Amino acid sequence: MKFGDMELYILSDGTLTEDGGGIFEYYPKNIWASYEVDGMTPYRTDEHNNILAAANCLLIRHPEGNVLVETGVHDKTLNYVKYHNIVKNPSLMESMKSAGFKPSDIDIVINSHLNPDHVGWNTVIEDGRLKPTFENAKYVIQKKEFRKAMDPGFELKNDYFSAEEDVLPLEGSGTLELVEGEKEIFPGISVIPTPGHTSGHQSVMIRAERTMLYAADMAALVMHQEKPRCKMAFDALGREECWRTKKKLLYDRAAENSWYTYFYHETSFSVGIIHKITNTRGEMEGRVEKVEIL
Ligand SMILES: [Zn+2]
Repeated sequence: MKFGDMELYILSDGTLTEDGGGIFEYYPKNIWASYEVDGMTPYRTDEHNNILAAANCLLIRHPEGNVLVETGVHDKTLNYVKYHNIVKNPSLMESMKSAGFKPSDIDIVINSHLNPDHVGWNTVIEDGRLKPTFENAKYVIQKKEFRKAMDPGFELKNDYFSAEEDVLPLEGSGTLELVEGEKEIFPGISVIPTPGHTSGHQSVMIRAERTMLYAADMAALVMHQEKPRCKMAFDALGREECWRTKKKLLYDRAAENSWYTYFYHETSFSVGIIHKITNTRGEMEGRVEKVEIL
């Protein structure tokens, strides 16, 4: 997809399943399981109450370098693969190859946060040792998020269980770039802190003639973007903090100005346009319109 003088590629790292109740928190199942997106009902559950989630990384070919947003799902731990029914068909490496890229072509990696379903290909095992997969890249991570992943404490230990394998080897390799707050990576591409899902979570803004927001797990699926109160039970911070972040960026800026929106986890489609609407109760909502990718 052309976006100004950039080219965007959607690179799949396969699919995983997540517990539906975890994904939609206090929303009743009869609403989310039959929720319609583009004429489909993507949040239908299997017999274990799981819904299917995608892991669609975004590669941006920018005149100043190649930026990879997210590195797919952790699959170095067998139990995690089994529990989440991870199927890598294709894997990020296969998707990159099909698009004509190799890991050494990547100049910047952005991890929105450091949960295992976003950092899977940060590292690879070579000669029995873990090393950064994208050896020529700088991995752009919020310092707050890195610190949390290294020292999550009792309550968040499981959320960052893969950090020792997927994050720690970056330290000392010369590839780690810890940032604090908003930062422009290349002209038109910025990271912006969006605390809620995790305390050091960041989103990505891509600006050309129009703006695209990659909200990551601040509002992971179409329903999270359309329904202001819809959030995940997995969010580390509370409802009020999540709402503050979501309102400020997703509704007051993105939906207000009909920005493009990119989805990592949504299976229905990856790129939409978010509009602000008023529902029948007179409350603000978002409405996401699918964008056909040519
Ligand atoms: Zn996620």
